[in-house]
Amino acid sequence: MMKDLYKELEKDVRYLEGLKSCFNCGVCTAICPAAEVSDYDPRIVVNIVQQKDEAELEKLLKSDTIWMCGECLSCKTRCPRGNTPCYIIQALRALSIETGFFIESQQGRKQLAVKRIVGEHILKYGYCVFIDEIDTEMYPEQGPIWDWLRQNKESILERLGTSYNKEQSGTLRNISQESLNDLKKIFDETGATQRFEKIEKYSSGKAKELNIEFNDGNDDYFKYLYNK
Ligand code: SF4
Ligand code: SF4
Repeated sequence: MMKDLYKELEKDVRYLEGLKSCFNCGVCTAICPAAEVSDYDPRIVVNIVQQKDEAELEKLLKSDTIWMCGECLSCKTRCPRGNTPCYIIQALRALSIETGFFIESQQGRKQLAVKRIVGEHILKYGYCVFIDEIDTEMYPEQGPIWDWLRQNKESILERLGTSYNKEQSGTLRNISQESLNDLKKIFDETGATQRFEKIEKYSSGKAKELNIEFNDGNDDYFKYLYNK
C-alpha cells in the first residue's frame, strides 16, 4: 500500500479548491445526472475523502465509483458549502492513475481506451474523436449508415460545408503542425504525457496478468476493454 495517500491528494489544487467542508446534505447527489442513472453518489465520495481514512481512500481509488462522474459540474452550482465534488473526483482520478490503482476496477481500466482514443486523437489531429479513425468494427454503435458515410465522406462533408482535409477555417479543418506542437507542449507541461505513460505501463502489467496480448493501438487488451 502506498503511504500517505492524503498527502498526495492534498498536493492537487483541485482537491484544495473542491473541498471546503461537507455537512452531508446530499444536494450534490440530488442534482447529479450520474446519480440519477446509477448508484453513484457524490455525497458519499466527499464524505469518505473528508474522513481522512487511508484504507477507505485506497478502496475508493481502486473502485469503479470515481469513474462514474461525467464532470458536468452541476454539483458546483448547488453546494451550500461551496464545495465542488467534481474537482475532488478529478484529483482522485489523477491519484488513481499515479498509484496504478485504476487497473483494479473495470471502469478504471478503461482509462487505457480513453487515452488511446481521445488522448491520442487530440495529439494527432487536434480533435477528441476524429472521423478517419472511427469504424463500425470497433464502434458498432455508430450504426450501419456510418459505413456509407465514411465511404463517401469527402463528397458528403463537402456538401455539409465542412472544411474536412482543408487548410482553412471551419469545422473539421486540418489543424496546423504548429498548433499540434503547442498541444503536445501543454500535455508535457501539465503532466498529461507522463500520466499517459503510467496508464500504458500499469495496463501492460494487467494485460500480462490476464494473459491478453498487449502492444499499442487496437491490440487485444484494448478490444477486451472496449467491448466488455
Ligand atoms: S452539496 Fe456540498 S455540503 Fe452537501 S453533500 Fe454535497 S458536497 Fe457536501
Ligand atoms: S460533475 Fe460529476 S459529481 Fe458533479 S454533478 Fe456532474 S456527474 Fe455528478
